[in-house]
Amino acid sequence: MDIHGLDRLPKVEIHLHLEGSVEPSDLQALARRNHLPDELWSLNAFEEKYRYADFAGFLGSFKFITEHLITPADYGWIATQLIDRLHHMQVLYAEIFVSAGVVLKQKKDLDAVVDAITTASREREEQTGIRVNWILDVTRQFGVEFAERVAEAAVRYRESGLDNIVGVGMGGDENSFPAHEFKHVFDEARRHGLHVTIHAGEVAGPQSIWEAIEVLGAERIGHGIAARLDERLMNHLKARSLPLECAPTSNLCTGVIQRIEDHPLKMFYEHGLRVTLNTDDPALFHTDLLREYRQAATHFQLTPRDFAQFNRNAIEGCFAGPSEKMEVLRLFEERLRGLENAQEVNGG
Ligand SMILES: [Zn+2]
Repeated sequence: MDIHGLDRLPKVEIHLHLEGSVEPSDLQALARRNHLPDELWSLNAFEEKYRYADFAGFLGSFKFITEHLITPADYGWIATQLIDRLHHMQVLYAEIFVSAGVVLKQKKDLDAVVDAITTASREREEQTGIRVNWILDVTRQFGVEFAERVAEAAVRYRESGLDNIVGVGMGGDENSFPAHEFKHVFDEARRHGLHVTIHAGEVAGPQSIWEAIEVLGAERIGHGIAARLDERLMNHLKARSLPLECAPTSNLCTGVIQRIEDHPLKMFYEHGLRVTLNTDDPALFHTDLLREYRQAATHFQLTPRDFAQFNRNAIEGCFAGPSEKMEVLRLFEERLRGLENAQEVNGG
């Protein structure tokens, strides 16, 4: 299979934010629907809000999007839009973050939002077969109290049988509050069977990744690009088979790397780390999953065989239960074999 076949490659994505996937045109539709102060803005004006110079600016753009999500139905609608796009890109399974901390901070009804998005994802699964699980995300700079409320809600949903809430994550400003302040939050989540992934080593250094693992019990690391600066940490990640949720375009857009070639994706992969490839906030980073694959193929000379391995890494490291994970792996291998057989027949 060559680079042109990447659109047909079955895929899995495990680092993706619901709110960061809202395209400017959808935001304009939300502004009109909810009669917000910017309901008369041109599409161009909304697109302008998706431009920023650094990580702080990016957080501002993310917040701007969340301010347009007024009703639970808005959340359900953007979930459907996103999941349909993923399905179109041959994604078999996705784990999506919803910024539950933002929902609480903006005094929206988290129960109703979670009901809307999980209902939307179940409907899309019935219609198209794509599987989606959700991770409730804590916004680090909101502090520990909001984190506690997010984790408590996740535990409550899990215990009420909402089994597509699979984990609790933490994103936002990594330099705002130290990891130890959140330790009890993530301990409690894990004690109730929820999985944990932490954005670390994105804007901060290797120490932040160590703390995510050793203090917060992270089972996956969001980004983790600072691990490139610490050989002992890379060896530890390898020994623990801890997946890294890499998203090169994201790191370029937020200014934590200067050129795509500076991203350690390939170096991590060659070091034997469990690398996965993701979009993070596709609308805010003007990307999609296929574009990430093509870019990685071009800049890192990665082949479809490497991408198949990234996807196996994502399936092994995903937070689905054992039987769902096996089913996703089976589907993935079946689709991959079908693709390879078709190419042989066509001499591709
Ligand atoms: Zn992220």
